[in-house]
Amino acid sequence: MRAASAIVSPLRRLAPTAVRHTQRRCFSNSQNMQAVWGFIGLGRMGYPMAKNLRAKLPATDTLIVQDVNLDATKQFLGEHSEGVIVAENVREVAEKSECVITVLPEPHHVAGVYKSMLQPPSLLKDGTAKERLFIDCSTIDPTTSREVANAATLSGQGKFIDSPMSGGVVGAQAGTLTFMIGASADVVDRATEVLSLMGRRVLHLGEQGAGLHGKLANNYLLALNNIATAEAMNMGIQWGLDPKALAGMINISTGKCWPSEVNNPVPGVIEGSPASRGYEGGFGVALANKDLKLALKAAKEANIKVVLGDAAKQLYDETEADSNCKGKDFSVVYRFLGGKE
Ligand code: NAD
Repeated sequence: MRAASAIVSPLRRLAPTAVRHTQRRCFSNSQNMQAVWGFIGLGRMGYPMAKNLRAKLPATDTLIVQDVNLDATKQFLGEHSEGVIVAENVREVAEKSECVITVLPEPHHVAGVYKSMLQPPSLLKDGTAKERLFIDCSTIDPTTSREVANAATLSGQGKFIDSPMSGGVVGAQAGTLTFMIGASADVVDRATEVLSLMGRRVLHLGEQGAGLHGKLANNYLLALNNIATAEAMNMGIQWGLDPKALAGMINISTGKCWPSEVNNPVPGVIEGSPASRGYEGGFGVALANKDLKLALKAAKEANIKVVLGDAAKQLYDETEADSNCKGKDFSVVYRFLGGKE
């Protein structure tokens, strides 16, 4: 594994004489000698990431954005008076950008967006780089990701890498995300330069798909640790132990983990935790469940034996459907289990 620093070397320029871009929704490649960057998916993560990217790019570069949610693109355009273009569709983004970043919800969104970008093949217009780099930051299953990567390679449209991230919305806003990338060695430096504009750490875990495998293994463990912590805390409290004393003991003992130490599911144990503010904010139970499902799917496809995951998935399914837990931080499983609040 290689950890790349966030210190960014000067971005590659396409031509020494950059022409300042002042028009919106109008693009002239003959005039455009500066770098053009594409960003698709201005949601909870993508919006602040694209903002950070725009803020750190040279003013003469252009960021071309797209989202099916027109309110998001309108707001983004409104917040950037220069250097941003809204594309009519994702194909326009691919045609004009030398580097395209996608931050989309589910595998089918990623597959659909890349199909539109890659088929039928189109050459990059004059003035852009020789080879496109597609960076997908969505958390999806490695099989879909590999299919998209193969389609990109076969179409001759560019290189595709997987780059799932951790750090949540807070990390996206602060530009402190960690990216786990699966990429061939020849694009690691280029990808690191780009991702370092939106995050603090870029970890190269191996060839294409490796970033997602790393992310899903971590989030599988997190999903289980969260339930185990909720059960252990509930157990101890029902036996009559003081919640803070119990957590304090666990956190200097062998049961210590992120959910016990930082995101303890019992209200009042950790000041400022989601549990201490009615389970608001944090890592949504639906997202935790989505990542768990993706991990289980990928494990099954590779004939990897897992024992605890199916029971955990059932618990998250039920928690997600419960009206007192829906939409809350995933530590709300403690409430679902009947924990004392
Ligand atoms: P989100 O639903 O808030 O945003 C996704 C955006 O994609 C939306 O704005 C949506 O309109 C847009 N979109 C959907 N289909 C599109 C299409 N065909 N063309 C263009 N735009 C389209 O999701 P998010 O929370 O930003 O998460 C994005 C990805 O990052 C997910 O895969 C998620 O698992 C992962 N992730 C999220 C978090 C988090 O805390 N939210 C943390 C780490 C990773």
